[in-house]
Amino acid sequence: MLWGTASTGVDKPDVAERGTTVRCPFCRHPDSRVVDSRETSEGDAIRRRRSCPECGRRFTTVEEMSLSVVKRSGVHEPFSRAKIVSGVRKACQGRPVEEDALALLAARVEDAIRAGGNPEIPADEVGLAILEPLRELDVVAYLRFASVYRAFESLADFEAEITALRAGGVTTAHAGGRSEHDTGPPGRLIPSR
Ligand SMILES: [Zn+2]
Repeated sequence: MLWGTASTGVDKPDVAERGTTVRCPFCRHPDSRVVDSRETSEGDAIRRRRSCPECGRRFTTVEEMSLSVVKRSGVHEPFSRAKIVSGVRKACQGRPVEEDALALLAARVEDAIRAGGNPEIPADEVGLAILEPLRELDVVAYLRFASVYRAFESLADFEAEITALRAGGVTTAHAGGRSEHDTGPPGRLIPSR
């Protein structure tokens, strides 16, 4: 639902392989060749060693990993904390949840996603990353969000979720096409049936 319909209409070309075009800082030649690239120790940036085809000098660039969300339609969109906040805010209507708490939640979601190390995240996984921090924030808002995100269809779905909440866990049922092998950090989700 967060990235379900809205679209910027801009699909950025994939530049992950060789990086963007970088001008030589020595002779101003408009392009350079990547001779080596590696992730920084934190894994959130890529350091590239480049060589200028004109003057032959070498230099280094550091590129921060941009996060993009892949919608069901296949369209890529930049990850946005503001979008997380607005999606969660709807679920929090009438609940005693401060704006600061929403911002904090969005930051936690981004951290969790970045920790996964994948620069392209299916929209479903963004929703999934919201569930746990939202459950800790406000259980009613969580139920609202989960019921839409996981497309609850019956009272039984709510019952199962509430039973899981009482047991202190989160169900993974109806998690939109998520497969077994891409579970997040251990302990974040507790299968309960
Ligand atoms: Zn040069």
